[in-house]
Amino acid sequence: MRPPVLDPLFAPVSTLPGIGPKIAKLVSGLVGSQPERDATVADLLFHLPHSLIDRRHTPGIAYSENGDIVTLDVTIGRHMAPPRNSRAPYRISAHDETGQITFVFFHSRLDWLQKTFPEGERRIVSGKVEWFNERPQMVHPDYSLKPDEAEQMPTIEPVYPLTAGLAAKTLQKAMKAALDKVPHLPEWMNEAYLHKTGWPDFAEALRTVHTPKERGDIEPASPFMQRLAYDELLASQLALAMVRAHMRTLGGIARAPNGAMQQAVIDALPFQLTGSQATAIREINEDLARPVRMLRLLQGDVGSGKTVVALAALAQVIETGAQGALMAPTEILARQHFASMAPLCEKAGIRLALMTGKDSQKNRRLRQAQLDAGEIDLVVGTHALFQGTVTFQNLGLVVVDEQHRFGVHQRLALSSKGHGVDVLVMTATPIPRTLVLTCFGDMDVSKLTDKPAGRKPVATVSVSLDRLDEIITRVGAAVAEGQKVYWVCPLVEESEKIDLAAVEDRHRVLEHILGQRVALVHGRMNADEKDAAMSDFKSGVCKILVATTVIEVGVDVPDATIIVIEHAERFGLAQLHQLRGRVGRGDKPSSCVLLYKGPLGETAGARLNIMRQTNDGFLIAEEDLKLRGGGEILGTRQSGTPGFRIARAEDHADLMEVARDDARLILETDPDLKSARGAALRCLLYLFGRDAAIRLLRAG
Ligand code: ADP
Ligand code: MG
Repeated sequence: MRPPVLDPLFAPVSTLPGIGPKIAKLVSGLVGSQPERDATVADLLFHLPHSLIDRRHTPGIAYSENGDIVTLDVTIGRHMAPPRNSRAPYRISAHDETGQITFVFFHSRLDWLQKTFPEGERRIVSGKVEWFNERPQMVHPDYSLKPDEAEQMPTIEPVYPLTAGLAAKTLQKAMKAALDKVPHLPEWMNEAYLHKTGWPDFAEALRTVHTPKERGDIEPASPFMQRLAYDELLASQLALAMVRAHMRTLGGIARAPNGAMQQAVIDALPFQLTGSQATAIREINEDLARPVRMLRLLQGDVGSGKTVVALAALAQVIETGAQGALMAPTEILARQHFASMAPLCEKAGIRLALMTGKDSQKNRRLRQAQLDAGEIDLVVGTHALFQGTVTFQNLGLVVVDEQHRFGVHQRLALSSKGHGVDVLVMTATPIPRTLVLTCFGDMDVSKLTDKPAGRKPVATVSVSLDRLDEIITRVGAAVAEGQKVYWVCPLVEESEKIDLAAVEDRHRVLEHILGQRVALVHGRMNADEKDAAMSDFKSGVCKILVATTVIEVGVDVPDATIIVIEHAERFGLAQLHQLRGRVGRGDKPSSCVLLYKGPLGETAGARLNIMRQTNDGFLIAEEDLKLRGGGEILGTRQSGTPGFRIARAEDHADLMEVARDDARLILETDPDLKSARGAALRCLLYLFGRDAAIRLLRAG
């Protein structure tokens, strides 16, 4: 049961002033921690400002520079309404002793404009100045106050990440109300450590970062941010430690069949296992044979052949009579895994099924019945599916492909689907040790270090978009020679619509210039359309596939030899490497063309250089960590470390270690969180959404 003292923080955001049902949706999308529920007041409070606006700058109109946020003490002049039916803005002139400025408004209500900017009166106005044709103007000033109300204006204002349709002021107002709801909470930090660091308590830290006095307050090294980051890290480490302790008490099931099924799978492969594939399979077999649960991370660069290892592991478990599940991050990948595993499974006598969100109700029910009856040995599907209602007769092993955001909740959700379920997580990203710890806890790690024999590095060039025509001609020539080409379309941040237009445009142009059918796949297509496009490309009916980044993870067409990445400067390193990994999978030499639009910024230039210089995923990941933060490494779009809202792997790695030791000590001295500090720690777990672990305590 959640401690009642937390109730105000778990009220939905819609209870805050200014947040109706519609805004609540937007806010939930922005700050929510659970997609199916409205965000809570706590969710909102963990949405921290990324910068500040300082309104103390009062240079006077004439000395305000283009782009500056300034506060002006002006006398309001004439209102200039646009002619009827004109789309021109409404303008109001104003002056101070240094000069004249125009305030510009689009679609504002006339009565409000007249009330807020009465002609001839003095007003304190604050906003961003822009110089246009040598004249200063301010579009939609942020504030206009009577001189005697001037102190109502915040001198320093936090700036929050926003989303379309959500006004900064709405969020600020809600945040203020949310801060007022923060109760006095018991201290969960170790007293000696708190004393040593000199950090403030949780509530004060939270209050300060939302009402900062200076930029330093919201930087990662400030005592306020450190305190909050530590709290979050402690919550996560404690939860992970509790899950581990619980798993130890549950025990796993020792699975040591004679290995005939696994051998049948391996024998059916048209190639030899690489050394590290063989090693990984051996490590997994040893885990499975022990009566504890397996929690293993399989790292291997793109194309290193993780899927085969997964299937070998699954076969081993299935031979003991249990069932296996493979979760893929996308529909396309789930289908691809299904297709590539089907012939191997058939030879090994494994009954395989595919389950996706697109299945008909009827099919879904049929599959579920077969699963319950134990008539299916192995099911392949998307993550979403397995987090939902699917049940098993006897689930023994879950393999999670290409998924980094795999927290305590999901892990528990999975273990609840069977007894002593073993878990294998696969990732193409060589995750640095600190990140492994932060995200997965103490997982065992197997690495695939060598690539399948005969693989050649992908020759990589960067070419300016000015030479697009030339590249299209070369692609045409390569296709005439029988080569297959991926053409990846520009990534336009935060606009699916523009992405779609760009990809459709490129598709048209290529078909037109090259005079042949080109396959097209993007995220808005339904499963059948995607399937059809992918199979046209696989079979060679189409020699070119134009795609958005939906092909980024795992898509496997071994005889594709060229990948063109348009607007390569917009992609992160990890993503470029993932994309490039789509080629170089067969025995023929492959190439990657990074089409960029100049001039290149420093970081973008560095990224393209690294791509040209190396094919080594580990090196690339290290460079990436230098160029960007940990969140980027794990390929997540948001900044920050996956699964964390405040702590960042690159800034708070040292705190992570402390939190881990702290968590260990806590469970050694107070395993059921029964002491006073234990009660406080329960609050902490709820606060940061790690409370699923509490259910594991014997004392409830
Ligand atoms: P990833 O690690 O990126 O998931 P996949 O498992 O998709 O890689 O494997 C990439 C390709 O390499 C597939 O076509 C697979 O059949 C092939 N492959 C896997 N292992 C070997 C091997 N030992 N020798 C040759 N080809 C292999
Ligand atoms: Mg893969």
